[in-house]
Amino acid sequence: MSDKLLVIGEVRDNDIRNVSFEAIAAAKQIDADAEIVGVLFSDSDLTSAGEELIAYGADSVVTVTHDNLKTYTSEGYGQAVLEIIDELSPKGIVMGHTSIGKDLTPKVASRLSAGLISDVVDIEKNGDDNVFIRPIYSGKAFEKKTFADDFIFVTIRPNNIAALEKDASRSGEVNTKDIDIKDLRTIVKDVVRKTSEGVDLSEANVIVAGGRGVKSAEGFKPLYELADVLGGAVGASRGACDADYCDYALQIGQTGKVVTPDLYIAVGISGAIQHLAGMSNSKVIVAINKDAESNIFNIADYGIVGDLFEVIPLLIEEIKKV
Ligand code: FAD
Repeated sequence: MSDKLLVIGEVRDNDIRNVSFEAIAAAKQIDADAEIVGVLFSDSDLTSAGEELIAYGADSVVTVTHDNLKTYTSEGYGQAVLEIIDELSPKGIVMGHTSIGKDLTPKVASRLSAGLISDVVDIEKNGDDNVFIRPIYSGKAFEKKTFADDFIFVTIRPNNIAALEKDASRSGEVNTKDIDIKDLRTIVKDVVRKTSEGVDLSEANVIVAGGRGVKSAEGFKPLYELADVLGGAVGASRGACDADYCDYALQIGQTGKVVTPDLYIAVGISGAIQHLAGMSNSKVIVAINKDAESNIFNIADYGIVGDLFEVIPLLIEEIKKV
């Protein structure tokens, strides 16, 4: 087995997703002496994206460019990853616990007959062993897992393991590998985006999330304004999505997105266990609710008891002064 750790990065609209840099930092934590090889797939040139991975700590990068890698499919990415693994024989693989990571890694693990530890939020050392920590029971407990054999295969939850500082002076090779991605049984014809503007919810450092208390789609406007002044994204409870105040793409929770921003502002959200499952690991939680007994205050670091329609405009006004 080589001394290489593969980090599968993700590119969207020619931008690398932050979690790719966090995965490099995680790989360094797993083995500071390993050679970190970044891997990127797309249908267009990836040289500058590869250089970006090197600036964030990768030692070299392998890129695969093919028309069939324009959009993610488990078959297309699976073929490419398996061929690279076959060639490099890495001692482990790290990827973001994103929708792509969640779909791709079990397939690859099963093909390799390897174990997979997913949704890792922290890594501890026990002697030479890596201990991977992941939330279970909707974030109410954490389990610590190790691999029974030497091969390491993990996905890491975005926003939990800090990326290394960017160092543009780092050098490393970006090699393009020709792989013929063929015989796909499914082909993506088009991707219709529902939320194309603003900050990506799963990578946002600040999230302003609205619940049923926001009362209407119109009522979400001040939340968008608050998110805007804070440079953040808007999310929602399922209550708000079910009531058609916003799109399900914004739903946070057990059956929605799992987020861990630096700041989570829950507005008119009661704090049901299924909602907490998606946001309770946020670094700082602020709750705005008119009911002082609301469960959301039990996990909030700061609470404002009041009518959101009065509180939000005041917050926006004050933040704009800073
Ligand atoms: P509510 O519980 O109705 O709370 C509204 C809150 O707004 C109240 O606390 C109220 O005091 C406050 N409020 C009202 N007016 C104002 C005002 N003017 N100013 C300030 N505060 C105000 N939920 C999720 O969020 N995500 C999930 O992924 C999810 N998955 C689920 C999966 C399953 C299998 C099931 C059964 C449920 C799931 N739910 C999920 C639903 C969850 O149980 C709750 O029903 C939902 O989270 C409630 O949404 P809410 O807090 O917006 O609404």
